[in-house]
Amino acid sequence: MSTLRFHAIKESLKRKPIKIKEEKRRSEIFGENVFNEAAMRQYLTKTALSSIMEAVEKGTKINRVIADHISTGMKEWAISKGATHYTHWFQPLTGATAEKHDAFFETIGDGMAIEKFGGHQLVQQEPDASSFPNGGIRNTFEARGYTAWDPTSPAFIYGTTLCVPTVFVSYTGEALDYKTPLLRALQAVDNAAVDVCKYFDKNVKKVNASLGWEQEYFLIDSDLAASRPDIVLTGRTLLGHSPAKGQQLDDHYFGTIPNRAMAYMRDLENECMLLGIPVKTRHNEVAPNQFELAPIFEEANLAVDHNSLLMDIMQKIAKRHKFKVLLHEKPFAGVNGSGKHNNWSLSTNTGVNLLSPGKTPMSNLQFLTFFINTIKAVQTYEELLRAAIASASNDHRLGANEAPPAIISVFIGQQLTKVMNELETVTKGKLSPKEKTDLKLNVVGKIPEVILDNTDRNRTSPFAFTGNKFEFRAVGSTANCANPMTVLNTIVAKQLIDFKAEVDVLIDKKSMKKDDAVFNVLREYIKTSKEILFEGNGYSDEWEKEAKKRGLSNNKTTPEALKVKVSKSSIELFESLGVMNKVESEARYEIEMEEYILHIQIESRVIGDIARNHVVPTAVRYQNILIENVNGLKSIYGDKFKNYAKEQLSLIEQISGHIEAINSLVTSMTNERKTLNEQNDIEKKAKGYCDIVRPIFEDIRYHCDKLELMIDDELWPLTKYRELLFTK
Ligand code: ADP
Ligand code: MG
Repeated sequence: MSTLRFHAIKESLKRKPIKIKEEKRRSEIFGENVFNEAAMRQYLTKTALSSIMEAVEKGTKINRVIADHISTGMKEWAISKGATHYTHWFQPLTGATAEKHDAFFETIGDGMAIEKFGGHQLVQQEPDASSFPNGGIRNTFEARGYTAWDPTSPAFIYGTTLCVPTVFVSYTGEALDYKTPLLRALQAVDNAAVDVCKYFDKNVKKVNASLGWEQEYFLIDSDLAASRPDIVLTGRTLLGHSPAKGQQLDDHYFGTIPNRAMAYMRDLENECMLLGIPVKTRHNEVAPNQFELAPIFEEANLAVDHNSLLMDIMQKIAKRHKFKVLLHEKPFAGVNGSGKHNNWSLSTNTGVNLLSPGKTPMSNLQFLTFFINTIKAVQTYEELLRAAIASASNDHRLGANEAPPAIISVFIGQQLTKVMNELETVTKGKLSPKEKTDLKLNVVGKIPEVILDNTDRNRTSPFAFTGNKFEFRAVGSTANCANPMTVLNTIVAKQLIDFKAEVDVLIDKKSMKKDDAVFNVLREYIKTSKEILFEGNGYSDEWEKEAKKRGLSNNKTTPEALKVKVSKSSIELFESLGVMNKVESEARYEIEMEEYILHIQIESRVIGDIARNHVVPTAVRYQNILIENVNGLKSIYGDKFKNYAKEQLSLIEQISGHIEAINSLVTSMTNERKTLNEQNDIEKKAKGYCDIVRPIFEDIRYHCDKLELMIDDELWPLTKYRELLFTK
């Protein structure tokens, strides 16, 4: 009997939900472990507080003396909550989040000690003491740089550690993390959007991008997960036959949340409340044991931090409940995978959501301006947006008929399509007073009503307008949202800058009135942005053909998709807006390509190991039992044994066939890897892993899954899909 699998199943069946106490209202504990404004008011001097506020609102620098005050206040607050250590918390490009804990504790001689946390410890740290290598970009990026405090994202306490959100940059100033370019992109879109807002409202001083993510995940019993080497090492199953029952009945989606999962969610939500992550929604998802969690949207930088933090604490809290969280985009073949919708919009310091239709024709013209400019930005940079969500694990999901295709398109709904069509017919040049009144009354003025009717939500669209925001649905569930958010905000910033320049030319050179100029430019944008708009079924083959005709990119794999990141125009785009310089763009490309290669390499090794060391020996064992049986039948029935051993003999042959196939496939896969590992050209190497190594997985899997169906269940060593997915 396969001990590990059955032991795990036995353990998993004994589980009871953990009791979760919620003694206080959530609104009372919200942000309790965050050094937020309320805490700052209590622990900081007035000058220190206003210095932080100014840094948050205007991006001003905090001087060293003030930093000392702040760090002291922060330390006092943290100690009062039981913290003993502090860490600079950041998001390096290669992992989820990173931290190195240091104690507040310091000796001061004569056997005495104090708790200390100075301004310089708050402001700057070196995560690693290794010296800084010089040379090419690879060296630059592998090198350790320093972390620097990001006052726009508040410090928080997790466990007994004060965590200070920071950026991570090299000594030469290049970004080594996800946050730095994001902050620069947010600044760029702020500047560009404020300039455009001035056409409509002179009081606008700041525009914030907002992000509301929706996180999908699987909850698997921790013993069952631990019994599968593929889950442990790659976060997904590399083989496993689909169960007799899957998600076809939709009974999980519409059912109640299972008790153990519910206890986990409440525990997680509690922790989120303490950390100021405003989670609001929880529900079952389509696949068995799949769930979703979503917060109330926040300013994008904070929302990105909160999502990274969440992914981290999800795993930690899962341990208490004997669960493993699978964040992978496709943990189980044949079962829906997970994504992370990114809901995005822009809003002003005056409280206006720029992607929400307003009450007056003028505010609607502002809405249309931002709406159409976003569409135009996506049209121009669709390939870059695709690249922003590329990863080995997301490749499984995009275009797999459950998630949007790898083709980026924008869905806006019938009513807004109609508005666009009407705006397209606006007269070229100055508008007559009648036309303008007509437009304002009948087209621009009517938007609020139409939006309310617009309930049609096309789930197959990767980038859909949903009433007052765009929803980027192709983001992977494991992704750090900073990457797609950096690209989206950068391309919209660039588009708004171009828009303003074009409108200003019409105002200055053609002496047009402001709204005439805006209408004129928008009309041209509508004409040139048609290719990206698509309302039909994104899963269909027709769309693939149609998209090709339209000239839209359809990069199905990560190595193909990433290429555009180092095209001349992309590098110039990021450089011109100060988001990333050439070195940063190129280094990111290399890091992502390398990560892709490593990912496939690891999966390939793991499946090779499981196939050879778990599946084949089990198959041989079962075959021996069959052989023994056949021999027994022969000794009883002599020549007539074949009448009774037909099935057994056929199985023996089939098993041999699969064993042979597995062994030769694993050997050829290993040889391909060896050849590729000699390859120094990163593009050729990634392409080889993608086009040669990866398809062999599927063949190996096919034979393993066939064996799973044949072999005595008692002998099968790997926990099966039905056990992983239906244990609650
Ligand atoms: P669903 O897409 O599941 O139907 P909703 O449309 O209600 O759900 O909202 C999904 C997410 O969109 C939530 O996280 C919500 O906070 C977020 N959201 C709502 N308005 C905005 C906005 N203006 N900017 C960014 N995110 C938003
Ligand atoms: Mg959604």
